[in-house]
Amino acid sequence: MSPDEIAGLVTRLRDQYNAGCSRPIKWRRRQLRALRQLFVERESALADALTADLGKSPLESYLSETGLLISEVDHTLRNLTRWIRPESVSTPLALQPGRSRVVRSPLGVALILSAWNYPVLLALSPLIPCIAAGNCAILKPSEVAPATSALLAKLVPDYLDPECFAVVEGDVEVSTSLLQQRFDKIFYTGSARVGRIIMEAAAKHLTPVTLELGGKSPCLVGKHVNLKVAARRIVSGKFLNAGQTCVAPDYVLVHREREPQLLELLVRTIKDFYGEDPKQSRDYSRIINTDHFDRLIELARSGQPLNELSSDREQRYISPTVLTEVTADSPVMQEEIFGPLLPVLAVEDMQEAVRFVQARERPLSMYVFTKERDLIDQVVAETHSGGLCINDTVMHLANHDLPFGGIGQSGIGQYHGRWGIEAFSQPRAVYEHRLRPDPPLRYPPFEQKSEEV
Ligand code: NAD
Repeated sequence: MSPDEIAGLVTRLRDQYNAGCSRPIKWRRRQLRALRQLFVERESALADALTADLGKSPLESYLSETGLLISEVDHTLRNLTRWIRPESVSTPLALQPGRSRVVRSPLGVALILSAWNYPVLLALSPLIPCIAAGNCAILKPSEVAPATSALLAKLVPDYLDPECFAVVEGDVEVSTSLLQQRFDKIFYTGSARVGRIIMEAAAKHLTPVTLELGGKSPCLVGKHVNLKVAARRIVSGKFLNAGQTCVAPDYVLVHREREPQLLELLVRTIKDFYGEDPKQSRDYSRIINTDHFDRLIELARSGQPLNELSSDREQRYISPTVLTEVTADSPVMQEEIFGPLLPVLAVEDMQEAVRFVQARERPLSMYVFTKERDLIDQVVAETHSGGLCINDTVMHLANHDLPFGGIGQSGIGQYHGRWGIEAFSQPRAVYEHRLRPDPPLRYPPFEQKSEEV
């Protein structure tokens, strides 16, 4: 799409928005139900696109993308009336007789730019609160997952009101043209590097942003814990989508006394989950492209693979690998891994682990496995992260009532459930005053009145 066509599209959507098309609650509900229908009726087409882009199995596609979307729409439809109902607040005596309300006002025309790693979920999940809050939107799926991007461009206009929603496909050039337009909200999912570009473009028009970014999410394993369960939950969170998950545990910090046992259990669990040859497993994904494949193979040199690292560039396959002999200065500890490499570092005690986390950028998620209440309390009180799971990984994002988002380098703003409505709406202050009585006290000239008082 050319820059002129993009400008024309934004104008058309804005006209629709200004005409009030996206505001009626009935219309919003209709759009949400249509979106649900898309997920249900086109589940197998979506699964095929995800297999083509990421080698995902249909079951994993359902569990980690389509199924989550269906449940998010249902949750939104159930709660929409309550979430967007105007809230009456008290009115002080000096402003009587009158009444005050907070009205959840839509923002206008939104731009949603999404990433490739869960390309269906990340494109359509922000669209749910965007619709629910009464906005129009342009969706730009990631060009790095081309099969999914093409499918969304075909399906969305079939299901949603094409006067209010549009899918624009394209690469950085198209993103750049989109960002030159004036939007009322930009919702971006991707890397912190591009997040800065988005924020700079948004600053030009003072457009509010939500930035869903990533980072190195640490996983702490204490001395007192059931290591077998910990290993299962770490392996499942880490190697889901071959490690290409924004909230995947990036690295493990384990109490030195438990390190040997944890390493052994991690390797055994990988075998239990994905078999002797994970390449044959239907539950194990591929790396998105050869650029990322090459980057990961290079990062793997940072440490010693504990289990055998096998790879196939043509198939973009890298086996789930536990890395030892990694230090804080190793290359693999300098950037978000975003692939199936799990460095395990030993710490003398959990205080060292907490200090390690405090000294680094604030992550999107943090995980701690322990039975010690004091350690849990300390992690809650003394560290920062977008989300925190105790004795589990990743699962916090499946609870619609928890906000999902980052902090610092891992993001700005939240969504999921009612938090998404807040991201796509404005709490508008509405004060309504009666016309009578209208005492002269509040009007100038004040001097004479203060003498009278
Ligand atoms: P990506 O390359 O698909 O980029 C994301 C979007 O940004 C795409 O739509 C792309 O077209 C656009 N884009 C890329 N370069 C641009 C530029 N120079 N100017 C304007 N737009 C541009 O995805 P990615 O950045 O590789 O995503 C991976 C990152 O996203 C990881 O850090 C991951 O942790 C993070 N992530 C975060 C979440 C979350 O919910 N917080 C979810 C998934 C991924």
